Amino acid sequence: MSLSPKEHSNYLYLEKGYEGEVIFDRWMEEVEKGFLVLNDLLLEHGNTKFQIDSLFLSQIIHLFEVKNFEGDYYIEGDRWYTNNGVEINNPLIQMKRAESLLRRMIRELGYNMNIESTLVFVNPNFYLYQAPRNLPIIFPNQIPRLLINLQKQFSPIKNTHTNLAERLLSLHSHDSPYSRLPEYSFDRLKKGIACSQCHSMNTIVTRKALICTNCGKRETIHEAVLRNIRDIQLLFPEEALTVNRVHEWCQPIKTKKAIRNILSENYTLDGFGPSSRYVTVDKSSLEKKDTHMEGELST
Ligand SMILES: [Zn+2]
Repeated sequence: MSLSPKEHSNYLYLEKGYEGEVIFDRWMEEVEKGFLVLNDLLLEHGNTKFQIDSLFLSQIIHLFEVKNFEGDYYIEGDRWYTNNGVEINNPLIQMKRAESLLRRMIRELGYNMNIESTLVFVNPNFYLYQAPRNLPIIFPNQIPRLLINLQKQFSPIKNTHTNLAERLLSLHSHDSPYSRLPEYSFDRLKKGIACSQCHSMNTIVTRKALICTNCGKRETIHEAVLRNIRDIQLLFPEEALTVNRVHEWCQPIKTKKAIRNILSENYTLDGFGPSSRYVTVDKSSLEKKDTHMEGELST
């Protein structure tokens, strides 16, 4: 569906942040074994929620705030601006706020540990003008040095650390992912089969394959339909899975017969007549059938 400008910019923001976390995790892989690592914590202290990208527990606690900013930015005093002069939230303030709330929280839990927080920029195309030297910031080309410094701090993980990690995890609040989704309904969503590689809707269906005219990716019809059934189930977990529904969703597939075959081979039909619906069967048998059925269907 088309997103409102606000939803769209929120989507881009989340996607960018996610990519940044993936880059950070890849960098950190080699030092992670020396620490207890907690990622993506959502905590609450004194009715204030705060989020932590990454915590590395050892003698001291390292708090990492990860940013995937791209392009040129500049600092004037406490204020941060994009190259076009648009002011953005100062990420150091956000990080310091999380640090201070975490410090109070762990003290109340009865632990006395130092916290050192660092703002890490992971995008090599990021540049920050007028940054004072003493800020707790790591720029992309300083990450290898950060890793060396962390390696020097390797020490056996003590019970205190494990206990604290467990306490923090137990306090982590799980906000439902649905609360962050924009409103959507089956009718409002664009129908068709998106490419599994580039997600474009520019796909065509031949006798056995789904071909993306955007990136050239080929997928068997069978795989493509099963993938879309999983999407429908993820988006509409409460709604009945029927041939009509899947057929409407997978629009480029002309006949219902192919859809019915795929559904009946991989799902169990529950009920009779117009009220019948498909339900998921045991996953292992589903995967087995997946590989056997490849390329056997036509539209
Ligand atoms: Zn594609």
